[in-house]
Amino acid sequence: MRAYLRKEALGSGAGLRPVIFLDRDGVINKRMPVHCHVLCEDDLEILPDVYEAVSIINEKGYISIVVTNQRCIALGTLDEAGFFGINDRMISDLSSCGAFVDGVYYCPHDGSDGCSCRKPGTGLFEEAERDLEALGITIDRQHSWMIGDEDTDIEAGGRYGVNTVKIGEKVPDLLAAVRMITGKQ
Ligand SMILES: [Mg+2]
Ligand SMILES: [Zn+2]
Repeated sequence: MRAYLRKEALGSGAGLRPVIFLDRDGVINKRMPVHCHVLCEDDLEILPDVYEAVSIINEKGYISIVVTNQRCIALGTLDEAGFFGINDRMISDLSSCGAFVDGVYYCPHDGSDGCSCRKPGTGLFEEAERDLEALGITIDRQHSWMIGDEDTDIEAGGRYGVNTVKIGEKVPDLLAAVRMITGKQ
């Protein structure tokens, strides 16, 4: 489901465009302890250097799209209004530092719901693709990436047909991943 799309800014950049898809928890914000989730705005702690990483993504002409599994919504520990509040906080914290997220897509389901959007499914990517197409933007998959911290992120990106980087394996954090992708030091 779409939580956010920066339509006006995106609308001026029609054509074939590369996208950097980003997982949220553990990539943009600090992961909560096992079995806990980010349940309110104050739980959201943006990791160091994420501002710089996202601004490099912007500067290098990539579209930045967050794709996040939020099964806590299915479990009832977080409602959608709560999720949207956390999302607004993330976007405003980043944009106040000149780092812009272009879109956020989330899966509110549990694994047992059998949806196609929960990663490693590719439904969130496909929904973003449809929304971008409506703005005249075609995703250049060959030059696009998925950056995540779990195997399901990497599997989803691979199934969708973009390049992948796993944080904690090849690179320590988002900034290192973005520097590797863009060649920016
Ligand atoms: Mg994660
Ligand atoms: Zn889903």
